Amino acid sequence: MADKTSAPRLDLGRTTPLVPPLYQTSVYAVPDLDTYDRIINGEESGYFYARDSHPNARHLADQIAKWEEASWAVICGSGMAAISAAILSLTQQGDRIVAGASLYGRTTILLKQELVRYGVQTNFVDAGNLEAVHDALTQPTKLLLVETMSNPLVRLVDIEALAKICRERQCTLVVDNTFATPFLVRPLELGAAFVVESLTKMMSGHSDVTLGALAGNTSSREQLDALISTWGLTSNPFDCWLTVKGLATLALRMQTASANAAALADWLARQPNVTRVVYPGRSDHPDHELARRLLPRGFGNMLCFELAGGRDGVNRFMRLAIGIPFSPSLGNFSTTCSHPALTSHRYVSPAERKRQGITDGLIRLSVGVEDLQHIQNEMLPGLA
Ligand code: PLP
Repeated sequence: MADKTSAPRLDLGRTTPLVPPLYQTSVYAVPDLDTYDRIINGEESGYFYARDSHPNARHLADQIAKWEEASWAVICGSGMAAISAAILSLTQQGDRIVAGASLYGRTTILLKQELVRYGVQTNFVDAGNLEAVHDALTQPTKLLLVETMSNPLVRLVDIEALAKICRERQCTLVVDNTFATPFLVRPLELGAAFVVESLTKMMSGHSDVTLGALAGNTSSREQLDALISTWGLTSNPFDCWLTVKGLATLALRMQTASANAAALADWLARQPNVTRVVYPGRSDHPDHELARRLLPRGFGNMLCFELAGGRDGVNRFMRLAIGIPFSPSLGNFSTTCSHPALTSHRYVSPAERKRQGITDGLIRLSVGVEDLQHIQNEMLPGLA
């Protein structure tokens, strides 16, 4: 039968490409109505329209599911899209959410400003205080949303204990694991129902994509696929293709970056102009004991340090430590810095920033996989 599509059918013989191809197409040609029906009914594999599903997203999702020990994973256009997908799938008008008090800024805005317009209320709680969580969940609550490690001060939550409380209260535990990645912690193994990762960060590792993933063992992937397509939270093929490449080195990058971060934290603590170092691997971190239990493979690549001189001290560091770019994201393979007070926590009230310990002199470092000596050499001019 003649091929009706304009796409050339490349003859690869019995060989297959070692690198799975990029399917940069928004739509697929289907031979006839019977085939269409069989694909819709799940009797045959295939694709129609990239907003519904596409091979590069499925390939990436299968790999994420393995990393998370999940029975399914779905890929969304950003970490925020993955958080939105989780919330939209679990709530309806009149429902209540309980969330950690120091979440990523946009997540807080989503809960405080957007969801209320649809009649979904959120109460915030110190997720590190199990008694407070217990009390907060005495009222009927659809979901508890927490982050494994908070931004920027890397406060940790006891996922296992939170999962136990959620089971007792019939509440769904959703964990944003972006700062930890499944290399350090797998929240589903500890009892969470859903895990979210911003793939934009360490998971892809090269600061060249914007993507998110949602994975779990309950609910059905098909339900989430439909929700993602309807709300338009879909990923694009090229970003998925790139992320598969980044994910291949996640373990290597997290191991090296965690070791670098641990060494840098101790080194920074000895620098004359550094007044505070915040890293969960250090014994002076308030969650160090929990970190030792939760993070047996390393304490991660995120740390904060405070410079004498406040904002002026930070400006000086940024101008002189030119090899440590100020770029308000995280998870690149090379070391970058950010300034929480002006970026991620810009719209948080000064009183709340003070309460959390986010001062004008605080720098957040996303440590990369470079040679440790190289990072120190790049930082030194800004620290002198
Ligand atoms: N969760 C955390 C902890 C984050 O830090 C971020 C972004 O910085 C997000 C979610 C959102 O991810 P994305 O930027 O991919 O939407």
